[in-house]
Amino acid sequence: MEQRKGMNNDTLRSRNRGLVLKLLATEGPLSRVDLSRRTGLSKMSVSNIIAEFDELGYVEVHGELSVQGSGRNPIALRLSDAAPKLIGLFVFRDECAAILCDMRLNTLKESRAALNNDNAAQFADILFGLVDSVWPDAGTPLGIGVGSIGPLDLRNGMILDAPRFHGIHHVPIVRILKERYGLPVQLDGQYDCAALAEKYFGAAREYRDFIFLGVSTGIGSGIVSRGELLRSAAGYSSELGHMSIDWRGNPCVCGNRGCLETYAGLQVVAPRLRRDCGRPDAPFEVFCREAERDGASAAWPALNSMTRALASGLTNAVNLLDPQAIVIGHAGYYLPDQCLATLETEITRQRLAKRPVKIVRSAFGAEAQVRGCACCLLDRVFKGEFFR
Ligand SMILES: [Zn+2]
Repeated sequence: MEQRKGMNNDTLRSRNRGLVLKLLATEGPLSRVDLSRRTGLSKMSVSNIIAEFDELGYVEVHGELSVQGSGRNPIALRLSDAAPKLIGLFVFRDECAAILCDMRLNTLKESRAALNNDNAAQFADILFGLVDSVWPDAGTPLGIGVGSIGPLDLRNGMILDAPRFHGIHHVPIVRILKERYGLPVQLDGQYDCAALAEKYFGAAREYRDFIFLGVSTGIGSGIVSRGELLRSAAGYSSELGHMSIDWRGNPCVCGNRGCLETYAGLQVVAPRLRRDCGRPDAPFEVFCREAERDGASAAWPALNSMTRALASGLTNAVNLLDPQAIVIGHAGYYLPDQCLATLETEITRQRLAKRPVKIVRSAFGAEAQVRGCACCLLDRVFKGEFFR
């Protein structure tokens, strides 16, 4: 990111604290020497930061690291259970969820509520009920991270007019949560949150450039470029599902034609699977499991066609962004191994630079976007916003 402002001592101080917290949360336990080596900070600076965290009760001794050679073994440190907690709030078309988690993304409490046409008028009360139900028994959380269905207006903290969202639109979600709880609130797209969860704790820890692809009724994405979540100037999320793979193709709700999600979204694929397999009520994952077991399953034609469409859309994205990996999540997590292998081969064959791109499943099953909603706030914690 272009750095247009200078950094005074206070800014540097908080950034260094965020960095140490990030390493302890995502890679701990670590010794002071490890932390110094990883951050480039002097051993004295690391010791001072650890002393401050120790005084606050945020760190504890994990044990001695055994090191070959003579001398004292270094002490490994980890975040303690007393370190601050965060709340993540997930807003989706048919379900909302809240989690309470620690800075290592361990879920401590979780609560879910269905969202439908019957209860949409009580949307704010449903969210309040969820947050209240996961509130920590002791202490105050650092804040609330919201991962939501889009489109969003991130500058004004609003959920705009998501398609098929029970008539709910233009919700100033950041303001209403701040007013009720008096805490920092960070809003991001659900798949941007999922991408952050994969970056810090999941399948993309070793990648600086990757795409998270969420396949559900529609298709969404989160892009991490050079280790940072890619956000537009206006704050919109990336919308890979609305990248066209045929300019004369299927009309889409967005106004364009041939959008990827009109071929590979479950709103199209799931009805075909049910029809082809003669099972009108089965969910997508059941067909995927059957196909995984049986190469002759009636599910294969629909899954193959979905895979070809995904390969086409993802090739566009790969030509544009040249990521190291693509993490597939939400219901896309259930796609059989064979589909992921085909995606990998086809994208490499179709892209201009014939370099392979890794296709990996989300480390959080079909739940990266739920786990990730706290991560948009955690991303700010790790950048040092909360510790001065
Ligand atoms: Zn579209």
